[in-house]
Amino acid sequence: MKKIGIIGGMSYESSLHYYERINKIINDKLGSLYTAEIIMYSVNFQSIEQYMRQNNWEAIEKELCDIAKKLESIGADIIVIATNTMHKLADKIQENISIPILHIADCVTKQCLEQNVKRVGLLGTKYTMTEDFLKDRLIKNGLDVYVPNKEKEINEIDRVIFKELCVGKIENSSKQYYINVINNMIREFKIDGIILGCTEIEMLIKDNDIDIPIFDTTQAHINSIVDYILQNL
Ligand code: GLU
Repeated sequence: MKKIGIIGGMSYESSLHYYERINKIINDKLGSLYTAEIIMYSVNFQSIEQYMRQNNWEAIEKELCDIAKKLESIGADIIVIATNTMHKLADKIQENISIPILHIADCVTKQCLEQNVKRVGLLGTKYTMTEDFLKDRLIKNGLDVYVPNKEKEINEIDRVIFKELCVGKIENSSKQYYINVINNMIREFKIDGIILGCTEIEMLIKDNDIDIPIFDTTQAHINSIVDYILQNL
């Protein structure tokens, strides 16, 4: 079975879902005691988050490239970066390894196109919403992508991710805030779907909270990992 190398811990809350669901789906599909072969390197997110706030992406790049190289050297066949934001460094990481990265934007695009949804909103950290690294990949894949255009909304969505969701806190007021932002985007941009472009947002927003389809990057990534394992047995 192919070995999945996961760069995790960003946050541990969402990495848990990767570990649990990949194994659960593989076991459901293959039966008996079949489970996935996973090597996960879980970082100390405090130091990574500090580097982000200091805009020291070189330090994060070095750490994540080292981890990817280690995962490759102990037998990983593919690399999964279990966070949207760190896909900012996906090309740099790829340059350091000879195994492929399963890019989260490609996985979620696949789910959107399967449901014929092209005009999408994107929520995520402020890096994901204001920079181009994820948006560009989605656009190149054929989607029209919209993000909230008010600074206040971007900052609050980002705050909830780091201060609440990354440590497992689910606040009703934050859920309502996100729902209002999405509903505004439906009115303003006429989006037909919303991408949860941060691996923790699925803990807050569920399918029946919103009238348009939700595309969760965590589950899309997990589904593609499972497909990769099953297609390469
Ligand atoms: N898990 C989040 C994401 O998918 C945010 C944490 C991070 O900055 O890596 O973007």
